[in-house]
Amino acid sequence: MSKYSIAIHGGAGTILPEEMTRDLERQFHGALEEALGAGKKVLENGGKAADAVVASVEVLEECPLFNAGKGAVFAHNGRHILEASIMDGAAQDAGAVAGLQHIRNPIRLARAVMEKSQHVMLIGAGAEAFAREHNLEFVGNEWFSTDFRKRQLALIRDSQEVALDHSVLEKQKKFGTVGAVARDQFGNLAAATSTGGVTNKRWGRVGDSPLIGCGTYAENGVAAVSATGYGEAFIRRAVAHDLIARMKYGQQTLEQAGHGLVHQELLPLGGEGGLIAVDARGNISMPFNSDGMYRGYATADQFETLIYQP
Ligand code: ASP
Repeated sequence: MSKYSIAIHGGAGTILPEEMTRDLERQFHGALEEALGAGKKVLENGGKAADAVVASVEVLEECPLFNAGKGAVFAHNGRHILEASIMDGAAQDAGAVAGLQHIRNPIRLARAVMEKSQHVMLIGAGAEAFAREHNLEFVGNEWFSTDFRKRQLALIRDSQEVALDHSVLEKQKKFGTVGAVARDQFGNLAAATSTGGVTNKRWGRVGDSPLIGCGTYAENGVAAVSATGYGEAFIRRAVAHDLIARMKYGQQTLEQAGHGLVHQELLPLGGEGGLIAVDARGNISMPFNSDGMYRGYATADQFETLIYQP
């Protein structure tokens, strides 16, 4: 059994080597290494799994390459609308936020909801009022913008006015949600996920990322999960909790549970994407059914970041 384990993701999708430059690849690996290193350091120093996943996700939120925090995609109305969630498998407690427009680090707010309120999920103006009371950092909505995301919205807005039609983005179908899962030295499990959702989303659309049991779940003794991909499919399959149930009630291994969901259950629903998960023994699984998934894992003696199919 490994002393501690951590895995991170920066989204899955059509990520092909021929569409990448060496320089961009280096940037992605560098960012993943930084995020993984931040979480690993917490675990190495005897910190808790929940602290480790927040440390990693914060780094990814600050990095403009990923669709979470700075660099988040644009909704149809030209705004960034962010969501995040965290679950601590030790306390079996969770915090989630959606409809945020001004919170620099949504994962910090999700954590504050978990630790400082009696609720699990807060949305929109109410969530931001709670954030003010707890001194979270606010930024203007344009702070999240990057030119790349602006071009993405222009492309989908001009070609078709339907919010979730990813087919118009065929060549660059890419989900950039970020997440982390960890098992600390004491056996505690935790998971965290943060996202800007999908480009061109409308009508207050909420994805799987802030939904406990869909995009995020952790239960001590079983596993911790963070997902990325076409959120509607992940919601309909309650993916994160289904993985736990397969292990807990169906005696499947982490690998079997993750593989079954990602390769058999999600595909018929158009559920392109993947997940990262760690079990109670510190085993890590990172299955995905897309061309690539930005990801990385570390234990006391391993440290690796990856992008494409093995
Ligand atoms: N799952 C996210 C959503 O549907 C998208 C992603 O993973 O990038 O909002």
